[in-house]
Amino acid sequence: MAEIGVDWPNLDAIWISHFHMDHVGGLGPLLAGTKHAPQMQERQKPLTIYGPVGFEKLFDGISSVRDYKLREQPFPVNVIEITTMEKFEIVAGVEAVAMSTEHTPESHAIHIRDGETTVVYSADTGFDGKLAALATNVDLMLLECAFVHQKPNKKHLILSEAIHLIRKAKPRRAMLTHFYPEWDDVDFEKEVELLSPMCEVIQAEDGLTLQLTMDNG
Ligand SMILES: [Zn+2]
Ligand SMILES: [Zn+2]
Repeated sequence: MAEIGVDWPNLDAIWISHFHMDHVGGLGPLLAGTKHAPQMQERQKPLTIYGPVGFEKLFDGISSVRDYKLREQPFPVNVIEITTMEKFEIVAGVEAVAMSTEHTPESHAIHIRDGETTVVYSADTGFDGKLAALATNVDLMLLECAFVHQKPNKKHLILSEAIHLIRKAKPRRAMLTHFYPEWDDVDFEKEVELLSPMCEVIQAEDGLTLQLTMDNG
């Protein structure tokens, strides 16, 4: 976050989709850092971390590693377990709703609304038409796409499934992420084009910044 110029000392909220290490493992290093970072010592605004049922227990487990006490920060930390399909205010004025996904018992996708602007992020998921319903007409549909053509299990998406969901949801723009090594030598644009997604489909990469609101200037 520091490298790409994100205003990380003012981070408002974190949402955890599920408990696989690639989705939750960063919390320990982040909060061990915020505890001592000079930029954080004067902060008073709370940081709220949302997760599925069971998240408090997991958080306290991470926090107890070498007695790091990650809840004890210069600023208040709120750890909140969300209820599936119940609206919550993730940041003041920004509404979120999380929906269960076909990945792990606790995994969720999320729909976020900031005024007129809407985003859906699938997090990790198997193929599920409910995702297209959740993402209908959003400004950005962010989908995992772990595999290209074949998958060893039903817990992730391949490209044709992701594009099918995008065609059904008709978002303004879509973005794919969570690429496994199978993607390394694949021509992303060419493969996507073959499936006629009907909207721009962006290949996510580290540090990518997107503006979601329409620029009328
Ligand atoms: Zn996962
Ligand atoms: Zn993952």
